Amino acid sequence: MQLRYSYRIYPDLGQQQALARAFGCARVVFNDGLRARQQAREAGEAYLSDGALSKRIITEAKRTSERAWLGEVSVVVLQQALADLNVAYRNFFASLSGKRKGRRVAPPRFRSRKDNRQAIRFTRNSRFAVLANGRLRLPKVGEVIVRWSRPLPVAPTSVTVIKDAAGRYFASFVVAVAGEPMPPVDAEVGIDLGLTHFAVLSNGTKVAAPRFLRRAAGKLRRLQQGVSRKQRGSNNRKKAVAKVARAHARVADTRRDWQHKLSTRIIRDNQAVYVEDLCVVGLGRTRLAKSVYDAGWAAFLGMLEYKAARYGRAFARINRFAPTSQTCSSCGRVDGPKPLGVRSWACPCGAAHDRDVNAAVNVLAAGRAESLNVCGAQVRPARVPAPREEAEIHPDAAQFPACSVEGAPSIEAEGTSIQRRSDRSPSGRECGSTAY
Ligand SMILES: [Zn+2]
Repeated sequence: MQLRYSYRIYPDLGQQQALARAFGCARVVFNDGLRARQQAREAGEAYLSDGALSKRIITEAKRTSERAWLGEVSVVVLQQALADLNVAYRNFFASLSGKRKGRRVAPPRFRSRKDNRQAIRFTRNSRFAVLANGRLRLPKVGEVIVRWSRPLPVAPTSVTVIKDAAGRYFASFVVAVAGEPMPPVDAEVGIDLGLTHFAVLSNGTKVAAPRFLRRAAGKLRRLQQGVSRKQRGSNNRKKAVAKVARAHARVADTRRDWQHKLSTRIIRDNQAVYVEDLCVVGLGRTRLAKSVYDAGWAAFLGMLEYKAARYGRAFARINRFAPTSQTCSSCGRVDGPKPLGVRSWACPCGAAHDRDVNAAVNVLAAGRAESLNVCGAQVRPARVPAPREEAEIHPDAAQFPACSVEGAPSIEAEGTSIQRRSDRSPSGRECGSTAY
């Protein structure tokens, strides 16, 4: 399976400039490719093939005076930018035709130099190398200092260099590793994710929601006010913006760290892990959005999934429309929606239930049933997602009204009315969703 190993890197000033150039060239190539395909479509011409596009946008463009500077960066970076575009198109087409499951994927959008996160990818072809002195050699950039927080297990197949909103640089290596099955255990667990608790396990464990963002809210607000007091376009404003970005990055780091610890513990303690397949995007459009993103379920489920694959555990997502919070886990009676704030209830069969634990027990039962369905064997071998692709799929650009929030636990318990705002333009950026 493929894993990502990320390290902080410290390019010097010259290297930072070379990287800025590479980020810029990759963006231009991506946008040129997107524009060429859009124009071909408007002109009623056939879809430009990957090869034809590469020839026109990279090889031939380099010979023109207005794109000659593309020659200053590694050609692999440019090819990989087009590869991202091609993947984005393929995902979009597969989503249109229904071949791709899950939520709708929006057509690719133009990249902006104002994007918070910039990334370029070097493959083996580019001859990047980890040197004996511990530095990372990147073609046409130089030998960059890396802080090796842990050793790379094998030689990487590619490296993505990222500059985040806080101005930090990272090298994210893709390595192919064999699974390392952990010693088998008997326990299996169902997990109910929610907002009152981050997670409730079928064995009765309740994990409180840490609410990192909420806790940092006061500080973030102060920093944000600092920004608005500074003059537009001034250097002090830039500094204040960077401070905000760093504070946000710290929140994200803390959350990720916490999620890693929790997911590792759950995978280590259980042979099979079942979760309800939440519609996170649907919830993100409600007024609970802040809490939902603060919880970071999607990232957490991703961790559970790849760790399960890596350590030889079963993992499955359960259909989100099963009414797990309304069904008695002892007798199977569907008792109807529970009124607001009902944390525990008694079934006519005599069973007394904690609302969330009951839901988790139902998730476990549904997971076991589903895993038996597949040829009466174990859960189907997990399709392991390559952790976080760099391709241009903007999650909130997908315009879909189809996703229900019913399956999401604790929402009805909060007693909130939910308004979906599917017309929201994602983060104020141009969506370009009609042109492809
Ligand atoms: Zn019952």
